[in-house]
Amino acid sequence: MRTDLVKLDKGDLHTAVGKEKLKQAAKLLRAGEVVAFPTETVYGLGANGMDVHASLKIYEAKGRPSNNPLILHIAEFDQLDGIARDISEDAWKLMKAFWPGPMTIILHKREEVPVETTGGLSTVAVRMPSHPVARELILQAGVPIAAPSANKSGRPSPTEAIHVMEDMEGRIPMILDGGKVGIGIESTIVDMTEEKPVILRPGFITPEMVDEIVSGVTIDPAIMGGPLAEGLKPKAPGMMYRHYAPLGDMWLVEGAMEDVVRKINEMTKEQQQLGYKVAVIGTDENIGDYQADIVRSIGSRKDPAQIGASLYGTLREMDQLGVQIIYAESYGEEEFFGAIRNRILKAAGYQVLKV
Ligand code: AMP
Ligand code: MG
Repeated sequence: MRTDLVKLDKGDLHTAVGKEKLKQAAKLLRAGEVVAFPTETVYGLGANGMDVHASLKIYEAKGRPSNNPLILHIAEFDQLDGIARDISEDAWKLMKAFWPGPMTIILHKREEVPVETTGGLSTVAVRMPSHPVARELILQAGVPIAAPSANKSGRPSPTEAIHVMEDMEGRIPMILDGGKVGIGIESTIVDMTEEKPVILRPGFITPEMVDEIVSGVTIDPAIMGGPLAEGLKPKAPGMMYRHYAPLGDMWLVEGAMEDVVRKINEMTKEQQQLGYKVAVIGTDENIGDYQADIVRSIGSRKDPAQIGASLYGTLREMDQLGVQIIYAESYGEEEFFGAIRNRILKAAGYQVLKV
């Protein structure tokens, strides 16, 4: 299959050429095909979420286990009627507060949503993205669009169209290229099928922000700790897979900053002597202090948004450069850093070195 990479910036949406491109993409979706498109979080791999065969094509293209559910993307509140039922007052409050935006809400599903889309669950994950290209595409397709991140299973989520091309060329007919995404980390997932909100996946919208709208927020313990956090069964099934993993052996190094720098440099030297290609993923504040084969800053510690936006691109670059060992600085849990730390931990397969 040939994969068309179609440039479509949000500014082009109202030009004749832009409209035509969008029309072609929507037509493919309506015909049960898979189209990748930009959202404000990461690139999504979209298909008609109400069509069993279309949903199955997503799993096939990603190589994703069939019990890992998809998120349905909508553009208007009206579309909720067809996919979710018994929506609580509190769930409505969150949707009104954060949609369109980087929040996914778990609701009770309607019969009409195929279990192939929800990984066999009786609940459904729903999000209303704010990216204009995503919104227009969903509107024109006229159906809820199932759209997991547009990477192959186990690879870092794509933050640029070229990343999607790396993983999906020959597997899907079209990629809409809307440039680099803004946030770069997947949506916050909040389960609203219980009494109180439960965060199943941290994201740009923090637990504190959710708690301000609906109090009593808790965080699913299974996402906090180690790999399969000691016998805890995650409520978000995807959390059990090793995600976002670079090919190299990655370690998170934690402690006082000067100790971290010293330890990383020490280990780098040792590993280089053994013949390995070593990389360091640091921040602007310390980047000049490292000696490794590859040294990359993912931004300033004063600007978590910048760090979130460049994390996955940097992990992909590590693979391209054939890096064998990766040492990464660690981050706290404040605000957006909670989500960033969660993703780095997963990328490192939870290998943490405390110094
Ligand atoms: P993504 O890989 O970004 O598409 O996110 C999909 C993730 O959303 C899955 O791996 C699950 O963790 C979560 N998810 C989707 N649907 C549900 C659901 N019904 N209940 C709980 N978590 C869900
Ligand atoms: Mg994903």
